[in-house]
Amino acid sequence: MTDNADQTVEGETTNMTDTDVAIIGAGPAGAAAAARLVRLGHRVHVVERSHFPRFSIGESLLPQCMAYLDEAGLLATVQAAGYQSKNGAAFTRSGVNTAIDFREKFTEGWGTTYQVERADFDQRLIQAAAEQGARVNFGVTVTAFHPDPERPYLSLVDEHGQTSTLSARFVLDASGYGRVLARQLDLTRDPRLEPRMALFTHVEDRIDDPSYDREKILIGVHPSDASIWYWLIPFANGRASVGVVGDVDTLNGHGDSPAARWQALIDAEPRLHALLGEARPLRPVDELKGYSADVTTLHGPGYALLGNAGEFLDPVFSSGVTVALRSASMAAPLVDRQLRGETIDWQSAFETPLREGVETFRAYVDTWYDGQLQSIVFHDSQPADVKRMISAVLAGYAWDRDNPFASAPRKHLATLAQLCGHSPSAAGLTAQ
Ligand SMILES: Cc1cc2nc3c(=O)[nH]c(=O)nc-3n(C[C@H](O)[C@H](O)[C@H](O)COP(=O)(O)OP(=O)(O)OC[C@H]3O[C@@H](n4cnc5c(N)ncnc54)[C@H](O)[C@@H]3O)c2cc1C
Repeated sequence: MTDNADQTVEGETTNMTDTDVAIIGAGPAGAAAAARLVRLGHRVHVVERSHFPRFSIGESLLPQCMAYLDEAGLLATVQAAGYQSKNGAAFTRSGVNTAIDFREKFTEGWGTTYQVERADFDQRLIQAAAEQGARVNFGVTVTAFHPDPERPYLSLVDEHGQTSTLSARFVLDASGYGRVLARQLDLTRDPRLEPRMALFTHVEDRIDDPSYDREKILIGVHPSDASIWYWLIPFANGRASVGVVGDVDTLNGHGDSPAARWQALIDAEPRLHALLGEARPLRPVDELKGYSADVTTLHGPGYALLGNAGEFLDPVFSSGVTVALRSASMAAPLVDRQLRGETIDWQSAFETPLREGVETFRAYVDTWYDGQLQSIVFHDSQPADVKRMISAVLAGYAWDRDNPFASAPRKHLATLAQLCGHSPSAAGLTAQ
């Protein structure tokens, strides 16, 4: 079949394009799936509503990402970009400073990664996928999904209002916060997390403190409300991403505008306040709320959901891009096998194993907000082997079933928190 034809769909003549795999969205999940599938010999067509480069949040990668980028043939592109190297996470709370080094971890694999400005990172990934043979259309929005096990198709509209359709043998939804299939097919379900809000911006950081380690994300905790936390993610070019996360009403109570709230909250945390004393803002303070999301299923006849288009938990341990890339890494070979005639059990081959690691991250998110993990992180000493197991999960190796802190995280974190003297009132947490 030719790629383009004028055909009649639902009584209207419209431009119809045909491909093997249609991908909605050109973020990390879409780009990685596209690159992998063209390398497996399929025609891939990515439809992206915005124009790249475009700002996106989600800038601190985890070392586990590197293996997925490598599988997709995208690692060299990322390594050549000159991004800020990252080897761990540092934590600060009321003058207590600790750190986890991802190179000291239980699970084999990469121990370092990067902190990236997503406008540049996402553009490089999709450009590399296009160079490998994926067809990519920017400025085109998917407005409808028409399910069919053999030949699903998408309704599209471009910026001039021109409509068209894209039919495929399989559709991957990598639309992130757009959540195209979740909305279209009514798959949305309660994410089982409190609705929280993030306030964030980029600054020229001007940090000259010699004790500050640019190779680690810095996670701070508000001195009098441990449910509020901060990120400081430095980039290679002297810029940094600075954000604060908390309950919507609580953050809104800190000022009359996003910028005023962000500044008041930064000023309340002594280490961030000191580090960012000379910082200059580079863009307005953005706010984002209601980002946690989940769906009843990650697959159906002729389609699967990747990355944030399926489930997103919380930014606290930077798991988002890792899960997005993992989902692409798992789905692409299954799509390949299905298109070659195999029957694939998407539940056992994709959804169940993908969600295992996501549930591990969920345990770390929940125990961060209930204070147990904070008690562990800020405790003055940990047995080295336990620290290596936690380090592995925070480095993204949440799917390693040999690591008890990945396979049975709630039990082990609860025991450890008790040993660290955890008590909810001492952690200063507000009611969740
Ligand atoms: C406050 C905050 C901080 C975060 N920090 C981190 C972090 O430090 N590290 C980390 O790993 N993750 C972080 N995340 C999560 C991260 O942002 C996401 O997990 C990640 O971007 C998901 O990638 P994706 O490819 O699934 O989706 P996206 O990156 O969102 O890409 C989806 C693409 O689909 C396009 N699209 C949407 N709708 C349509 C449509 N109808 N038609 C066509 N195209 C469409 C969009 O324009 C977009 O380009 C953070 C999230 C939040 C909310």
